[in-house]
Amino acid sequence: MLLVGHNLETMKLKGNEGINSALHINEGITQPPSINAQAADTYISIKRDILPVEEYFSGIRSGNRTILSKAITLIESSLPAHKDFAQLIIAKCLPYSGNSIRIGITGVPGVGKSSFIETFGKLLTTNGHKIAVLAIDPSSTRSKGSILGDKTRMAELAIDDNAFIRPSPSAGSLGGVARKTRESIILCESAGFDVIIVETVGVGQSETAVHSMVDFFLLLMLAGAGDELQGIKRGIMEMADAVFINKADGDNMHRVSISLAELRNALHFFHPSESGWAPVADICSALTRMGIPKVWQIVSDYVTYTKANGYFEKRRLDQAKQIMHLTIDLALHDHFYQRLEIKKQLRKVQDALLNGKISAYMAAQQLLDTYFNTKEK
Ligand code: GDP
Repeated sequence: MLLVGHNLETMKLKGNEGINSALHINEGITQPPSINAQAADTYISIKRDILPVEEYFSGIRSGNRTILSKAITLIESSLPAHKDFAQLIIAKCLPYSGNSIRIGITGVPGVGKSSFIETFGKLLTTNGHKIAVLAIDPSSTRSKGSILGDKTRMAELAIDDNAFIRPSPSAGSLGGVARKTRESIILCESAGFDVIIVETVGVGQSETAVHSMVDFFLLLMLAGAGDELQGIKRGIMEMADAVFINKADGDNMHRVSISLAELRNALHFFHPSESGWAPVADICSALTRMGIPKVWQIVSDYVTYTKANGYFEKRRLDQAKQIMHLTIDLALHDHFYQRLEIKKQLRKVQDALLNGKISAYMAAQQLLDTYFNTKEK
């Protein structure tokens, strides 16, 4: 069911009806977009399938995982009204976010990410932490991020009261999926989760997206498989604050120690990162738990180190700036391609381009002219 067939501005106006406001609005003056949560509440609460903003907010703040899940579903919804409404929740939660350590984990399928997160997560919850696990997988190699799929992947963590596992949003553009994940992080932090794990499949661009939203980036690798085999590009290695070779157990140990020596050698040649932190290479086993406490020790050392030299805060601020620009880029992109005239012309201009009648530059210019010279209907 369509939740609200109006945009935020409509909600605001409805909520304001009949209110004797001291703020007089002159006719003809375009109002700045504002998020009036209270007014939106008034309007939206009459719709049955959704709670008032206040209830989402208090539910999230009290750590209610069902409500948190519902709010994330709104973030992930493709309906503009849902997305707008989610912004109201996010705006309320924002002041209570930020108090966590955000860890990105990547590695090729089969390296043991789920097993690692399960073991690592259990270690953390046993030590009193509350952890949230989010996933970025724009290719959606997992079947539509089915909840069951993720629950069986991390069976113990899934029933842990101090853990929250959110399956990856179904496929979409990387930018879109990344935005949803960033916003979900805000809600999870407001719900009191103090360690956020963002998992990604190490095959493409998504690592860069994850890197731009976490404090610490962990790369998991397999022993004995060449870099190409693992789909690990040098760039991904360079982003890592720690690289752990997983499956360091049983008769794999010999290969693991050879790979570790190679890895340490390779990392040695990398440029020092902006944080001043020298990436750590080590080994672990999600199966036997060997090395897992060490990962947490390294993350903690990293946080202490980067908080002391100011990098931790700087990186978060840089990320916030980057998110702002990305959001603008995405919105403009959508606005452009959703314009009726553009939809009408795109095919024609594209055909002219492909038939060699116009250059790519001219094609783009024609469409841009159309965009800037037509009014929104
Ligand atoms: P993902 O695709 O990266 O999430 O990998 P999974 O966690 O699903 O693990 C893939 C396979 O490797 C599974 O059969 C796991 O049981 C196995 N596995 C994961 N971690 C380890 C480990 O530390 N040691 C061993 N021997 N097997 C592991």
